[in-house]
Amino acid sequence: MRSLITGGAGFIGSHLAERLLGRGEEVVVLDDLSTGRAHNLDAVRDHPKLRIESGSVADPLLLADCMAGTDVVYHMAAAVGVKLVAEDPVHTIETNIHPTAALLRYALLGGQKVYIASTSEVYGKNPKEVWEEGDDLVFGPTEKCRWAYGCSKAIDEFYALAFHQEYGLRTVIGRFFNVVGPRQVGNYGMVIPRFVEQALNGEPLTVYDSGKQVRCFAHVAEVVDCVIALMDSEETAGQIFNIGSDRPVSVLELAEAVIEEVGQGEVRHLDYGDAYGAGFEDVQRRVPSVEKLHRTIGRKPEKPLREVLRDVIAWKKSAS
Ligand code: UDP
Repeated sequence: MRSLITGGAGFIGSHLAERLLGRGEEVVVLDDLSTGRAHNLDAVRDHPKLRIESGSVADPLLLADCMAGTDVVYHMAAAVGVKLVAEDPVHTIETNIHPTAALLRYALLGGQKVYIASTSEVYGKNPKEVWEEGDDLVFGPTEKCRWAYGCSKAIDEFYALAFHQEYGLRTVIGRFFNVVGPRQVGNYGMVIPRFVEQALNGEPLTVYDSGKQVRCFAHVAEVVDCVIALMDSEETAGQIFNIGSDRPVSVLELAEAVIEEVGQGEVRHLDYGDAYGAGFEDVQRRVPSVEKLHRTIGRKPEKPLREVLRDVIAWKKSAS
């Protein structure tokens, strides 16, 4: 079995690479190291079954070369994080859409099963308490660049489903909900690495707005196991799955939990405008139904938040 992971030096991609190598697969990693980092792969760098290509998924010849001879493609390469999207919207739209279209065409020739890494951002600001895969996508106006991220990923989903419907390509879409764990960095938004770093450095934890926004945080190791199980399953082609924790916590509660686990820190509230620039619109509540995931693969991310936090804190301490 040989798999290609685009974005394989990224936070989630590198955990996925380790897991696949651990079960004896050959792995090709393609990453342009824009937000991914070479040292995310340090633990497996010299593994005889790992090939690392540094370059862009937008380079058609390189992508074709990396896909040759593979059975499965995990398409994880994307513009990542709300902060980056707000700062570089052109890059976000182009990176998220064009390479996916090329990759799906190559997969038609190569016959690979393709995992498309999508996001809870595609639900936009749907007011439902708990989001299911068939729910409406509710985006704000195009004037607010945040929605470019969710829309660009929604286009990827449409593409993947269309290739399945028209050509029988085996595509599986996973919508990640706030994945966290070791190796995630806070540069691109990402609240948990930011809070942990702030607490460890004795700086105030920057809670945006009231801190009443709600999220669910899943450990990357459990998320990666779910992704692999979805690709192993014969029943998943042409389908969409939420992947995440279904235990909600407010950002303020999260900050308090981090302060307690680190043993120091205090909360400082910041306006959204100061954090992301004028016109930013946050999603107030984001909770997935993972019933479909659980029904299909017999598992879902379950690690309690405190355990996830302890893991991140231990990693930050060891990495600094
Ligand atoms: N957030 C915060 N302080 C930070 C970073 C993020 O209060 O330093 C909030 C952010 O406004 C959002 C939540 O934490 O409501 C999660 O943000 P993140 O960027 O991690 O992921 P998102 O869910 O927005 O994609």
